[in-house]
Amino acid sequence: FQLVADQIAGSIVNVHTVEEARKRADALQEIDRAKTAFFSNISHEFRTPLTLMLGPLEEMLSQTDGTLTPQQEENLTATHRNAMRLLRLVNTLLDFSRIEAEKVRAHYFPVNLADLTADIASTFRAAVEHAGLQLTVDCQALSTAAYVDRDMWEKILLNLLSNAFKYTLEGGITVTLKEEDDYAILRVRDTGVGIPADELPNMFERFHRVKNSKGRTFEGTGIGLSLVKELVLLHQGTITVDSKEGAGSTFTVRIPLGSAHLPEDQIVKTAV
Ligand code: ADP
Repeated sequence: FQLVADQIAGSIVNVHTVEEARKRADALQEIDRAKTAFFSNISHEFRTPLTLMLGPLEEMLSQTDGTLTPQQEENLTATHRNAMRLLRLVNTLLDFSRIEAEKVRAHYFPVNLADLTADIASTFRAAVEHAGLQLTVDCQALSTAAYVDRDMWEKILLNLLSNAFKYTLEGGITVTLKEEDDYAILRVRDTGVGIPADELPNMFERFHRVKNSKGRTFEGTGIGLSLVKELVLLHQGTITVDSKEGAGSTFTVRIPLGSAHLPEDQIVKTAV
């Protein structure tokens, strides 16, 4: 009898703990939903006044009739640069909360990924070379179409490139695209400050930032790479990082070729 009683008591305890755990998981999910909604709302609220500020600022900056003193022009340029930075951050937060709320619909087009990647990478050439660094782009044609959402691919690449640029003080950046076992492999390699080995597993976590070894702190929010990861996941792909402190980093994105793995209703069949 004692045995049976113990078993019953045990299973009641289990029922309690299972029930408790379920309740806790529900509550956590609810908090997460509220957090996402909050982020989304606040980003929206920030975006409108920011956009309204940028319009007149750009208008003033475009005045070339000598009405502005050099000092005024310098101040306006700095204000404009910082407002743009804020807008980029707000947009990233918005992208993030949309993905979290599963409100994102991708449009997967069959694209020439080599050309698209090379085009996006080349938009960085002037800035990279201006900073005395080298940009090497080597994108090989793929045997099959890659289905990607072009805006998302652009965000993936621009985030990786702007990090490579930000954390590289000498040497250069190399962007390569090639095919391997039915996957498109994108690599963004830099000769920058690198990442300590113990930080590598956390690189794609939200708001995670590395204090780089040289003791130099770079500005940032730690949201870029987690957005990149979400965007890569929307392509059923993977992202990894390989790095040596002081010797640079390589970020590798792998996405499967073809469209069999993607949701049918988000595939756009015709190339445009
Ligand atoms: P942010 O650059 O805004 O801080 P990210 O999510 O893009 O945010 O990057 C997170 C952290 O990863 C950065 O703070 C930086 O320490 C590190 N990191 C990212 N890319 C590189 C890179 N190419 N080289 C060295 N460190 C990097």
